[in-house]
Amino acid sequence: MVRSSSNNSAKTVGVLALQGAFASHELVFETLGVNCREVRTPQDLGQVDALVLPGGESTTISQLLESSELFEPVKKSVHEGMPVFGTCAGMILLSKKILDGRADQLSFEAIDIEVQRNAYGRQVDSFEADIEVKTFSSPFHAVFIRAPRISKLGPSVTVLAELEEDAVLARQNNVMVASFHPELSHDDRIHRLFLKEI
Ligand code: GLN
Repeated sequence: MVRSSSNNSAKTVGVLALQGAFASHELVFETLGVNCREVRTPQDLGQVDALVLPGGESTTISQLLESSELFEPVKKSVHEGMPVFGTCAGMILLSKKILDGRADQLSFEAIDIEVQRNAYGRQVDSFEADIEVKTFSSPFHAVFIRAPRISKLGPSVTVLAELEEDAVLARQNNVMVASFHPELSHDDRIHRLFLKEI
């Protein structure tokens, strides 16, 4: 018998698996008991209800999105309301405007933020910080790796966490972004926050 279910155990979360830190996201979803699928082709995309764009190298992911013919289908799905969570390079790919990007670097223009790549310094300057996330009762230990900085945000963007004056976790409708790597913190609260929207 097929039962319809409103909880996300019946949904499949896709993780864009072209380059970068996709495996750590999958592990978090697996430990939460959520169906997870690596997305490498437009056919894979058709099998998922939500999508995570991982950290990595946004210029490389941009090129691979084009060569795998995923760029346009992902853009369409996101603009049609598919829940999407972009972390670090994934946030860059979702932003409306990229500063210090490569001239040919693409973005989905899905959230009204301007981001500056590598704004917190080079790889050697990566750092960790405890951040207060709206609705969480204790701080989240966030890992920043050559992190992009949100340098501007529009009025329809909700800030969920800040580091000093900068938004580092934000949402606009179906699009959530983090400038850090929540999949590396051994703390699944941010993934669960994303799953609530699915
Ligand atoms: N600096 C990388 C970029 O521009 C992002 C770093 C990351 O995802 N950890 O794509």
